[in-house]
Amino acid sequence: MSKKIRVRFAPSPTGGLHLGGVRTVLFNYLFAKKMGGDFILRIEDTDQTRFVEGAEQYIMDTLTWCGLTPDESPFTGGPYAPYRQSERKAIYRQYAERLIESGYAYYAFDTPAELEQMRNDFKTAENPSPQYNHRIREKMKNSLTLSASEVESLLTTGTPHVIRIKMPEHETITFTDMIRGEVSFQTAQVDDKVLLKADGMPTYHLAVVVDDYLMKISHAFRGEEWLPSAPVHILLWKYLGWENDMPEWAHLPLILKPDGHGKLSKRDGDRLGFPVFAMDWTDPKTGEKTIGFKERGFLPEAFVNLLALLGWNDGTDQEIFSMAELIEKFSIERVHKAGAKFDYEKAKWFNAEWIKQSSIFSLQSSIEKVLSDAGIQVDDKEKLAKVIALTKDRCTLLTDFVQQAGFFFKRSETIDLAAIQPKWDTAKKAFFTALITAYENVNHWEATELEKICKELATTHQLKPGELMLPLRIMLVGGKFGPGVFDIAAILGKEETVNRIQKVIALLQ
Ligand code: GLU
Repeated sequence: MSKKIRVRFAPSPTGGLHLGGVRTVLFNYLFAKKMGGDFILRIEDTDQTRFVEGAEQYIMDTLTWCGLTPDESPFTGGPYAPYRQSERKAIYRQYAERLIESGYAYYAFDTPAELEQMRNDFKTAENPSPQYNHRIREKMKNSLTLSASEVESLLTTGTPHVIRIKMPEHETITFTDMIRGEVSFQTAQVDDKVLLKADGMPTYHLAVVVDDYLMKISHAFRGEEWLPSAPVHILLWKYLGWENDMPEWAHLPLILKPDGHGKLSKRDGDRLGFPVFAMDWTDPKTGEKTIGFKERGFLPEAFVNLLALLGWNDGTDQEIFSMAELIEKFSIERVHKAGAKFDYEKAKWFNAEWIKQSSIFSLQSSIEKVLSDAGIQVDDKEKLAKVIALTKDRCTLLTDFVQQAGFFFKRSETIDLAAIQPKWDTAKKAFFTALITAYENVNHWEATELEKICKELATTHQLKPGELMLPLRIMLVGGKFGPGVFDIAAILGKEETVNRIQKVIALLQ
């Protein structure tokens, strides 16, 4: 029987979720859904010093917003619960001890001061930060250098200790990465990582292997930054006797800064003025707030779509994909090895395309929310639907609806009189006064009729319609923006249109 497909996203809850993290979720999710498998969210919170209040809920909220709902998680539970490593603490020690018994790991009793001393003693110009490795472990205080009775007595007296993996000196670890092909590491380059800490908590290295095994993970897809840890993990799978159950690996390419130099960081976003986190994140310690794609005005469909294309394509020129299409077309082998440059202009293009092709109905509630956040209340849903139909092709971000659509519901607080004033004269005043009367008498209040009346009246007044459009727009809208001026008037209705024209004429006296 072939193995059930089970993948996991295993974040450490340390802050806002970087778009690279969401892309890791997405590729896991797409793969699982395509193969009829399960997608698991596991919280890797073994490093208590890095615990950040609210980060776990934030991760779950982000996944929900993106429509990437896990089948099993700390929130929903599941057959392999608990899904929070801090709640699984009791599970790990036995595996670390099993490794000691089989000679693949050892107790280390070095104090922080002794470790510091070691770093000083072995520091050279070529090796400024020496690591605890096969060369150095011989000189340290551990169960490889101490006698069995010394070790026994240190353990029984409760001397603080860690458990370290005993990396082989000269082995080549080779594995097949689904994206990179064959990857090899020399064990001599890798230090003796701590597996179990003095507080009894496992480190990430031990916990990730034990949990991937116990949770029957079939494929481990994670960011490229974890590639250097792969040899440690592969050895642990082997040393624990689980080699036949080891998941297939894929290390996803980095998301690069717009200029292609280095990994995109939150700081790049701050510097260049675009979001890097999925949703707004407020650091609970400093109170510092970081803007997210959601609050910047991205649709989740667009966010997911643009992330999918950061490092993957389906082999054609197609760029717009729905989630269903992504699930159908995704394959991990088509993910590129090379890093993907992040281009914010392109990200916005995806959003504009998604706004264009989304139905009015599906946009309604998010636009209502954006307007209400800007202090604009929508009193009439039918009117909102008409406004969205008229303005959605002009908006790149949902927040653009504040300018493009807000004035339909609330008169602009500022009116760009300076744009009208220089060419305002008695002839124009007479025209607009007559326009008010003409509009008051209109029976069929709709755009083409309003345009016809305006143009005919312009001819009567011997004015060019071209000179009248800008003042009329500013009267209705407040500034030089928005859709067709008669379409605007049609939606505003007779009373409101007339009132707005009247008000501006009065201001121009
Ligand atoms: N806890 C790791 C992280 O924070 C998980 C890496 C992995 O998927 O193995 O990303």
